[in-house]
Amino acid sequence: MRYLKETLTTPVAGEYDVIVVGGGPAGACAGIAAARAGARTLVVEKMLYLGGMWTGGLVNPLFDYAQKKGILGELIGDLKKRNSWGGFWKMCFGYENMKELLESKLLDAGGEVLYQTMFCRTIVEDGRVCGVVCENMDGRRAFMGKVVIDCTGDANVAHSAGLPTFVGREGDGLCQAMTLMFTIGNVDFLQDKANELFDMVEEANAVEDTGYRLPFTKPFIIQIPNTRHAVVQLTHMRGYDPTSASDLTKAAIEGRRQAMEVVNFLKARVERFRDIELLETAPLLGVRESRRIAGEYTIDRNDLIDGGRHEDDITTASFGVDIHDPSSTNQKCYGVKRYGIPYRSLIPKGIEGLLVAGRCISGTSEAMASYRVTGNCAAMGEAAGAAAAEAAMQGIGVRDVKIGDIVKHIDGGI
Ligand SMILES: Cc1cc2nc3c(=O)[nH]c(=O)nc-3n(C[C@H](O)[C@H](O)[C@H](O)COP(=O)(O)OP(=O)(O)OC[C@H]3O[C@@H](n4cnc5c(N)ncnc54)[C@H](O)[C@@H]3O)c2cc1C
Repeated sequence: MRYLKETLTTPVAGEYDVIVVGGGPAGACAGIAAARAGARTLVVEKMLYLGGMWTGGLVNPLFDYAQKKGILGELIGDLKKRNSWGGFWKMCFGYENMKELLESKLLDAGGEVLYQTMFCRTIVEDGRVCGVVCENMDGRRAFMGKVVIDCTGDANVAHSAGLPTFVGREGDGLCQAMTLMFTIGNVDFLQDKANELFDMVEEANAVEDTGYRLPFTKPFIIQIPNTRHAVVQLTHMRGYDPTSASDLTKAAIEGRRQAMEVVNFLKARVERFRDIELLETAPLLGVRESRRIAGEYTIDRNDLIDGGRHEDDITTASFGVDIHDPSSTNQKCYGVKRYGIPYRSLIPKGIEGLLVAGRCISGTSEAMASYRVTGNCAAMGEAAGAAAAEAAMQGIGVRDVKIGDIVKHIDGGI
C-alpha cells in the first residue's frame, strides 16, 4: 500500500468535562445523564439525529426495558403520553418521537450535540484519553474532554486509542448476520404472535416454481404504533466484515436489493400483503456484532446461565441469547437468568479517562448476543454518563468512582 504523510495542525474547538462519541441508545442516554449530573457535555454523532439503531436503524421493539427505571422509564412514559408506544408486542415506539425526545432531554439538561460530525481519532497523552478529533462541515477539529465515552457500537474510540479489541465469535472471528431494516406501508393487520408469520411466510417460501427463497426464515413484520406502517426484519447479509468500509458498502447494497425482492415476494405470494409498499430502507445498516473491548471484567456465558450478580452492577439484563448465524439462515436462541452488568465491563483495560457503553462493552460474543438489545444499552449509557460526570467533576479516575455515586443519578435506582 502507498502512504501519504500528512502534517496537520488541528484547531481545538471546545473543552468539556464529558465527551460522548456516538448518540445511539447508549450514547444519547450517556449524554443526558452526564449533563443532568452537572457535567459540561458534548455528544458527537455522524447522523442528523440521536438514537442510533433506535432511529437510524429503524429497530423495534424495544427489548429488555421492563425492569428498568431511569431515563429509559422516563422515555417510555413520554412515548405513552404521546400515543407513540404500543404496536407489535405492545413495546414499539414511533421513530420521530424518539428522535425529538432524546434531543430535547439532552438540550434541556444543558448538554450539547454536534450532528454530521464524524469521530476520526482518539487523543491519548501519558496513558490517558484526553479528547477526540472529528471532521464535519467546519473541517477537522479537536474536542478536549476529561472523560470520553465510546458509544459508537464498534469501539471506534478504544480501537483508535490502540487498545486491544475482539471481533466476532471465539474461534473463527465470524460476526452475526447483518440486516438492513425497512419500512412498509398499507399494512392492515397487527401481528401478535411470531409463529403466525413464520408459518405463513414459510408456506409461501416453500412453493418451488420461481427458485427464489427468502434470505431469512424467521420474518418479523413489526407494527409501529398508530400507523399503518410496519418495519420488516427479513434481510440477512452474511460473511461481511463489519470493520471494513468496502464490506459495509457491499452489505448495504445487498440489503437494499434483498428488501426489494422481499417486498415483491410478499406482495405476490401472501394475500394479506398484496397492497404493501416499500417506504424506506434504514439510513443505518444493521450491524449486530463488531468490535468488543477488553475490559476490567468480561461478561460470559456463566454470568448468563447462573444469573451472575456483582458488587458493581449498574443494571441487569434478562433478554435471551439471540444469535443470527454468520453462515446460515439459522437463529440460535436460548433463555438466560437475569444477570448483572458490572461497571468494570465498561472500563477498558490499560487506559484512563475512557468508558465504553452499548454493545461494544467487554463480554464474549455469546454474552453480547443477549445484552446487545437497546434497553440494556440505554441503561449502560445512563450509568456511564453518570460515572463520567462524577469522575470529571471530582477530578478522579473512572476506576475510582463509587457505585453509589453512579446509582444515585438513576431515578428509581437500577
Ligand atoms: C438488524 C438489527 C435488529 C435489531 N433488533 C433489535 C430489536 O428489535 N430490539 C432491540 O432492543 N434491539 C435490537 N437490536 C440490537 C440493538 O439495535 C443494538 O445492539 C443497539 O442499538 C446498540 O446500541 P449502541 O448504542 O451500542 O449502538 P448503536 O445503536 O449502533 O449507536 C451507535 C451510534 O454511534 C454513531 N457512530 C458510530 N461511529 C461513529 C463515528 N465514527 N462518528 C460519529 N458517530 C458515530 C452511530 O451513528 C450511532 O448513532 C437489533 C440490532 C440489529 C443490527
